[in-house]
Amino acid sequence: MNREKLPGIGVLTSGGDAPGMNAVVRAVVRTAIFQGARVFAIKNGYQGLVNGGNDIVPADGRFVTGIIHDGGTILGSARCKEFMERSGRLEAAAKLVALGIHRLAIIGGDGSLTGAMVLHREWQELLDELVKTGRIPEERVNQNRDLRITGLVGSIDNDMCGTDLTIGADTALHRIVEAIDAIYDTAVSHHRAFVVKVMGRRCGYLALMSGLITGADWVLIPEKRPEARSWKQEMCRILKQGLDAGRRASIVVLSEGVKDSEGHDIDLPDVRDALRSILGLEVRVTELGHVQRGGHPSAFDRIQATLLGNAAARVLLSGKMKYNPALLGMEGFHIITSSLDKCLQKNREVADAVDVGDSRRAMEKRGRFFAGAFKAKTILKRPLPSARVSGENPVLALMHAGAPAPGMNTAVRALTRLGIEAGYKMLGIQHGFEGLVAGDVRDLDWMSVNGTSGMGGAFLGTKREIPGEEDFAPIERQLHQHNIKGLIIIGGLAGYTGANLFRLNRHGFQRFSIPIVCIPATISNNLPNTDLCIGSDTALNNIIEAVDKIKQSAVALKRCFLVEVAGRYCGYLALMSGIATGAERVYLHEKSVTLQDLSRDIQFLKNSFKGDRHLALLLRCERSHNYYDTEFMRTLFEAESGNDFSVRHALLGHLQLGGSPAPLDRILAIRFADNCVRFVDNALKNRQAPAVFMGIKRGKIRFFDLAILEKLMDIDYSRPQNQWWLKFWPVARTLV
Ligand code: ADP
Repeated sequence: MNREKLPGIGVLTSGGDAPGMNAVVRAVVRTAIFQGARVFAIKNGYQGLVNGGNDIVPADGRFVTGIIHDGGTILGSARCKEFMERSGRLEAAAKLVALGIHRLAIIGGDGSLTGAMVLHREWQELLDELVKTGRIPEERVNQNRDLRITGLVGSIDNDMCGTDLTIGADTALHRIVEAIDAIYDTAVSHHRAFVVKVMGRRCGYLALMSGLITGADWVLIPEKRPEARSWKQEMCRILKQGLDAGRRASIVVLSEGVKDSEGHDIDLPDVRDALRSILGLEVRVTELGHVQRGGHPSAFDRIQATLLGNAAARVLLSGKMKYNPALLGMEGFHIITSSLDKCLQKNREVADAVDVGDSRRAMEKRGRFFAGAFKAKTILKRPLPSARVSGENPVLALMHAGAPAPGMNTAVRALTRLGIEAGYKMLGIQHGFEGLVAGDVRDLDWMSVNGTSGMGGAFLGTKREIPGEEDFAPIERQLHQHNIKGLIIIGGLAGYTGANLFRLNRHGFQRFSIPIVCIPATISNNLPNTDLCIGSDTALNNIIEAVDKIKQSAVALKRCFLVEVAGRYCGYLALMSGIATGAERVYLHEKSVTLQDLSRDIQFLKNSFKGDRHLALLLRCERSHNYYDTEFMRTLFEAESGNDFSVRHALLGHLQLGGSPAPLDRILAIRFADNCVRFVDNALKNRQAPAVFMGIKRGKIRFFDLAILEKLMDIDYSRPQNQWWLKFWPVARTLV
């Protein structure tokens, strides 16, 4: 292939750095090379473009080796004054044309992407000027007329339209939630109040979400300006009620950029002094600062960065672009393309609304998800329910079924409080269907779920057993005895199957004719009609952390690691963690593994270890093959390695299930809970008894009749017939 004929493609990172930028750079470089293009790494953002010379260097696959798990950006990022001026952009154009680069993948915040827009708008004029002034011959210039740009948003603030989450925001949320969870422990021990300030500039996403999913009692965000004269009293009144109700700590989360209704800044000392003087509390303040930007990118950030980088290179090198410049973003795990111009325009509208203090417009423009989260936060943080719970209230029962999944407690807490708020008495059934048969129940009142949002495991207990026919009569008796009007099961396929049995046996057991809702919660993400299940994001993060450590243990050895991850026959965790860790090979049952494949892989490893490879990572899903198990593969690879490399294996086992739920799992649990309570309430008010399971598709929550469950499942392998994520298989292959 004549690479000189293909357009040169440049990649740069600009503005504030964000975790995940390296994963984008790696994906752009490797995908473009795979497609046969010449790729250039541009250092220090637009400054590199203006400078040229050693700041624009050809990049090969090795240039981006071993960077996927690093925070920051290997390209360097900078703010460049010259590029704000036309003269600076003329320099940049000259450098690009000289190297034949007219495809650009730009990763940055809204400032950087505005710069990209301006460059694109002026491009023809800039080129004309380069010809007119004789700097570059016309023929050369004309080869570069077709400038194409894709913008990817790298920003921890989540402050951009056109994508659900900007690259880096999930990692920042991880850092903030870890910090607030830790602060909560010490605050409880000392009965202290804490004020935590988080980043966000004009966007309250980090403050709002961290407040929603941790033990925070009060949140201040720029979009919702509090009343100048009364906010301090109002905040203290709520905190006091919480302390009176038995809360042993008070935490206030303050975003950057908050002003009151009269436009006065609200900063840490204002909140601290109010808590001290009005409540007489001992107060500590913490400004998290750059901690939020640093550290290893989260699983979601690595995956979305990789998918977006891969898509950006493909879009730039494909025949035509729907939008140019385009902004590539994600809806859940699905890539969406928008007009960069339109996204920047919408962003300016939100920023304007925030700047002038128009809270209604600012909240509206942030979208329904943001406004919904604000509402949920307002309810969940209440020290006491606004509705009274009495013996008269209809009863909703909550239970788990299947293996524990991190985030189950978050769901139970949210369901309990939102249910009480909607006028129900909430009952917890312990230890799954066995507990339902035995009547092993406990009341769930407002304070019984206090402090449980970030707890791992499942405090109600969960079991995998599915009820048999002999259990139906005792279950009916329990439903009657506790007067249960609705049943919510948070769990995996065991829960769905049990619920479906109730649906199928309604003719014989009248009490089964109540609303029944299954909320998907299982780390393996093997449930139908949902992009995600509660728990799978935490499991992915557990896997990548373990794999990062395993990789670090092998510096300077010729070593191949074979890591087995959970999922039984469902390869979601294996494939996604393979993408997030840059694994050389991923073995899934869905992509049947043959002896020829293994033989080819051994040859590939031998060849590359003979070169300068030190380390290789192979990930296999538990049941990727019925006979070629992890031990077999380890022995085979070791036996065939011919002393070119050694092989070690690791079974991650229960480590994947444990730990505090990741932010995305907590947010998902609260969203499911919120929609579920409204659904059940509506059904009961309309005297209906649907039996459904929930799912989230492209960020939208939906309900599906359990009657379609069998049709959707591949029962032999306990996984959905349609596994949406398998479309990422080629990405994993391309990038290694
Ligand atoms: P971020 O991309 O994180 O929002 P900045 O707003 O600082 O960060 O922008 C980064 C760089 O993008 C600036 O230093 C400048 O080089 C370029 N840039 C920003 N706004 C413009 C603009 N209106 N015109 C041209 N270049 C711009």
